[in-house]
Amino acid sequence: LVSLENVSVYFKSERNPREQVGALVGVNLSIEPGEIIAVVGESGCGKTTLGKVITDIYQPTEGRVLYKGKELRKLTKQEYKEYRLGVQMIHQDSYAALNPNRTIFQSLSLPLLQHRLAHNQHDAWDQLSELFVEIGLTPPAQFLQKYPHQLSGGQRQRILLARALSVKPTLIVADEPVSMVDVSLRISLLDLMARANQKLGVSFVYITHDLGTARYIAHHGRIAVMYLGRMVEINQIQAALDHPAHPYFHALISAVPEADPTLRGERLTQLPLRSFDMPSVTNAPPGCKFHPRCPYAQEICEREEPKLREFEGGLVACHLAESIRAGMNGRFSTSS
Ligand code: SF4
Repeated sequence: LVSLENVSVYFKSERNPREQVGALVGVNLSIEPGEIIAVVGESGCGKTTLGKVITDIYQPTEGRVLYKGKELRKLTKQEYKEYRLGVQMIHQDSYAALNPNRTIFQSLSLPLLQHRLAHNQHDAWDQLSELFVEIGLTPPAQFLQKYPHQLSGGQRQRILLARALSVKPTLIVADEPVSMVDVSLRISLLDLMARANQKLGVSFVYITHDLGTARYIAHHGRIAVMYLGRMVEINQIQAALDHPAHPYFHALISAVPEADPTLRGERLTQLPLRSFDMPSVTNAPPGCKFHPRCPYAQEICEREEPKLREFEGGLVACHLAESIRAGMNGRFSTSS
């Protein structure tokens, strides 16, 4: 559906405008029709930039983005319009994503009328009412007539999902859609997205730093793990969680607190740091970007950046994936 080929996005550094900072570097990713792919990583790893490249909010500095096999910049006007409607984004901050001066109906009917998906205001009202019932915003009139500030965070997030679904998309990029929503409402929002995937075949790129919700929504799909603007592991989510190949992903999984008092926290892993500064895209180290924190790092890791390559049915960017797997028998250790 959408493919990224060797995509890099560089921004000017705030400290030194002549310096370029790689927010995304050499990213390859293909999103298939009907799939859910979870993109995970720490804050600042490039997840949101990736989402904005997929939706053409940011254009790549290098590389290309294809929609149904055709480069975005070479689409005809009609094809580009189809892409803009077909690929929607749900933002993290539902308040900022809705115009505070418009009622929900005014905001949501606009794209329907502009793109002639509704004949008139009455038709738009009927279509949106039907959608609101499906996603549990009932009675619809009560929500359509309100302003964003009159709704809760969970209701606004549902409305953003309704706005994305109303134009009948093929792909939705959901950027941390439940991180600002009460924990008790998260599952119902994730279920709505999963239902849209199953019933309507909508693909999802689910961007998060939370492995729990990633696993919940993408349990039959794939996971893509990012670190400092690079993809470091891509695999089926269950296989990746059972046998993570990249030391960073292994550490991420180990750092998830267990709701099991018998564990007394021994599964929690703190990543070591050999230098004082936490690596970020603005001070990315040479070679493997993870080497200052990696307990397995060797000389080659400091020198050469590993490429994403095939490993055990998935893809991993690590020079030593085989020997780590063999030597540690799949277990992670921070003792080295
Ligand atoms: Fe660690 Fe080296 Fe693999 Fe990077 S390439 S993750 S530093 S072992």
